[in-house]
Parts: sequence; structure tokens; C-alpha cells
Amino acid sequence: MSRRASAHHRPNRSVRPLLLALALPFVALAATACEPIPVKVIPTPDLAKVTCTTTSTRSITVAASIATHTRQLLAAAKTDGLKLCGGGYRSSEGQIAVRKTNCGTSYYDIYLKPSSECTPPTAIPGTSMHEKGLAIDFEVCQTHDSACYTWLAKHAATYGFKNLPSEPWHWSTTGS
Ligand SMILES: [Zn+2]
Repeated sequence: MSRRASAHHRPNRSVRPLLLALALPFVALAATACEPIPVKVIPTPDLAKVTCTTTSTRSITVAASIATHTRQLLAAAKTDGLKLCGGGYRSSEGQIAVRKTNCGTSYYDIYLKPSSECTPPTAIPGTSMHEKGLAIDFEVCQTHDSACYTWLAKHAATYGFKNLPSEPWHWSTTGS
């Protein structure tokens, strides 16, 4: 290589780091756009366990704020011959796992698809009452004519629970 050619290349080399520095933010932006962080993240509530009346080895984890009411509801149902257990609090990771099962596994499926398009309907991560510990899915409440649903429809409001009409098993403090 001649001295002249070498001198000619030198300025180009010094420009390269600058171009890289300019491009990096766009590379980072593109990566972020592909996998945005979920819009809402619900802080973990204070939690408490309420022992199931089906078996004392299982419990329902709920927000501490509704533990007493949940315990009273389970006790009252048991007195009437209805033993209950179910699923309460769900972490954000848990909600994402349920979305993958019920809605699909793409980014759209997990974070954007309307709840009503999932089977069964499943709230978008960050919007479920389960993530606040304020909802319970009761296990023997699959239909509106089950003994479980019939009893809860009559008594759950006494303990601050409302049903989501499209899901006989889902009871929460707001009905959503
Ligand atoms: Zn539910």
C-alpha cells in the first residue's frame, strides 16, 4: 500500500466510531419497540392465606384486606353444607402464564388481545383483580346452576363479593 493510499484511509477509520455512536440509540429503540414493557404493573398487595373448607391442606391466597371476609364466607358456606376452595391471588407472572394458556403466546396475544377473545376470557396482565388479590375463582362453580353459584349468588354480597356474570366461578370485590 502506498503512503498516499494509507493517508487517504485514515480519516474514514476515525469516522467509524462516530457512526456507531449515532446508530446505537436507534438499535436500542428498535429492540425496545419489539418487546415493550407491559403498560401496567400492579404492586404485590399484602397477602393472607385462608384455609379451604374442602381440605385443610389447601388455602386461598387473597389480599390481607379481604381475608377476614373470605374466611367468614367460607365458614358460612360450610355451615350450609358447601365446602369451598379456589384460586385467589395471582402474580403478574402467573397472569401472563394464564394469558399464554387461554389467549395465545405472541406478544399481541399476551398483552393486547381483548379478554373476550380468550377462552375462557382472561384479563390483560396488569388489569386483573386476581393480581390485586381481590378476586377468587371457586372450583365447584363452573355453571350458573351449580350449588356453589346458587349459594354465592344468595350470600356472597354479605361478605363483599360480586360475580362477573360471564364467569360463574369468578367473584371479586367489584364484580370485574
Ligand atoms: Zn377469575
